[in-house]
Amino acid sequence: MSTPANAPPPPTNFLRQIIEADLAQGKHAHKRWAGSPGDADHQAGAAVDPARIRTRFPPEPNGYLHIGHAKSICLNFGLARDYGGVCHLRFDDTNPEKEEQEYVDGIVDAVHWLGFDWKDADGHENLYFASSYFDFMYRAAEYLIASGNAYVDEQTAQEMRANRGDFGKPGVDSPYRDRTPAENLARFRAMRDGALADGSAVLRARIDMAHPNINLRDPAVYRIKRAEHHATGNRWCIYPMYTFAHPIEDALECITHSICTLEFEDQRPFYDWLLDHLADGGLIARPQPRQYEFARLNLTYVVTSKRKLKHLVDSGIVGGWDDPRMPTLVGLRRRGYTPASIRAFCERIGVTKDYAWIDYATLEASLREDLEPRAHRAMVVLDPVKLELANWDAVMGAGHLEPCQLPALPHAGDDGQPAAQRHFLLGREVWIEREDFEEHPPKGYKRLYPGNTVRLKGGYVIECTGCEKDAGGTVTKVLARVIPDTKSGTPGADSVKARAALTWVGAHDGVRAEVRLYDRLFTDPQPDAGGKDYLALLNPGSLKTVTAWAEPSLAQAQPDDKFQFERLGYFVADRVDHAPGRLVFNRTTGLKDSWGK
Ligand code: ATP
Ligand code: MG
Repeated sequence: MSTPANAPPPPTNFLRQIIEADLAQGKHAHKRWAGSPGDADHQAGAAVDPARIRTRFPPEPNGYLHIGHAKSICLNFGLARDYGGVCHLRFDDTNPEKEEQEYVDGIVDAVHWLGFDWKDADGHENLYFASSYFDFMYRAAEYLIASGNAYVDEQTAQEMRANRGDFGKPGVDSPYRDRTPAENLARFRAMRDGALADGSAVLRARIDMAHPNINLRDPAVYRIKRAEHHATGNRWCIYPMYTFAHPIEDALECITHSICTLEFEDQRPFYDWLLDHLADGGLIARPQPRQYEFARLNLTYVVTSKRKLKHLVDSGIVGGWDDPRMPTLVGLRRRGYTPASIRAFCERIGVTKDYAWIDYATLEASLREDLEPRAHRAMVVLDPVKLELANWDAVMGAGHLEPCQLPALPHAGDDGQPAAQRHFLLGREVWIEREDFEEHPPKGYKRLYPGNTVRLKGGYVIECTGCEKDAGGTVTKVLARVIPDTKSGTPGADSVKARAALTWVGAHDGVRAEVRLYDRLFTDPQPDAGGKDYLALLNPGSLKTVTAWAEPSLAQAQPDDKFQFERLGYFVADRVDHAPGRLVFNRTTGLKDSWGK
């Protein structure tokens, strides 16, 4: 598998300790079945797997992946990478109604984009679909029936709910619970053959209706659902439940450590119950996979439920799954996040069993660390007002354009050579930020006001002389004079005191750019916690689009190119709308965390 370069040695965590202990005991040097998981001849072969771990990332293809999934991906693929093992990408596609090929393709792209691969050392592509095990799962269900461990229940859904009991109250046995294996087999086959209506019967594991863990009170393992499946079409009208399918998928793929989020802790006894019974029947090999749970990622200002994200898309609140305000990986990518910054974030937050919220600023900080040394600098004016250097023609020559330059990067390259330069022209008129002029400056203001001197970055020192205003009092032009012999970088240039350096764009060579100023999608740090209505907490200012002036180097920007716009933050050329002749940039994040202020 591909290894993201330059990764520092990862800090240890409870999963690493478990894996290291297992490897030390040689626990995973066991018989590995030949063939593909789920094939009829799957159990026939007997290749020996060396002592190595197998993990898996098992998304359901019912939406695009989000930042929470990135934690799971980095964890599962990262453990396999670090311990010389293999990580499978497995689509948990057992729920036909919500799953689509579009999501399968999106997930494949997202995992690759993050820098991980499911090919193992032998060149084998470990990409699997739970739906390709439907035959095996069906056989496993018949085995449970034959061995007296499952029955077809034909109570109504309401009866089943009522008879389940609750935390304080044991459940009540179904009147169908003591059917013979032969009767159950006949009814299960009738389910499969389409003789029973949707919802009229389920196959249940026969465990204990009084068990203190409600998940062991005869959980449903197969249901009737006439729905076309994205991979198996109309071949099946019964589908396995997730809790039944998932352990079998893990076992067929010889997963060693099945790592999931803590919500599944209460399911672990059923996971073990099922695999123990199937191993007793010789349907799967021992040792079986083991499930381990960790705390899911909760990130402030973000919702990570796929259902809620889909609602934001379907209702048009955002422009799509890849809207740069979405916490999806396609959204973060379009926003300007890099795979390295997301991997670094996942390393930083670590893996524990503790419930916690991670501050969104942690994710932004990881991006800044990645981009600071390598994002090309550029000057852009987002809220432009014109500045006229009234004495320019007199002292510089009529129509003169002075070539200026600044380094593309603040630090020298690895080879010690100075960084490449960006070139632009200074003339009589330039664009500056409206907020960089104050006719009546507040105390401590260092930028342009009548009588003050500032440097136009990379150019000359200028002295402000006043402004022009329209009838409403809005400044329409700032007036200044250029002070000759102060050009940036020339000897003696600093003899005139400049109290600030302003970013600017030349009126002669500046280019127009659409800049999308993205902010957080929600105003509340925990928009859907504690039953809050996340739709009432949308940030009305999450997107503001401006027409900016940009320095000419930005005309060469390619989609996905990342920049630091000086004084403004990190920006990316939009991967969808940016094109030669139509410059579109998205704000990724500011230069420092300013949300709290
Ligand atoms: P849904 O929102 O539809 O319940 P899900 O987020 O659980 O879905 P899956 O496709 O089942 O979606 O997730 C694939 C894997 O990603 C699972 O192993 C799940 O535990 C993990 N995962 C999902 N959300 C998070 C999260 N916030 N933090 C860490 N891991 C997560
Ligand atoms: Mg899930």
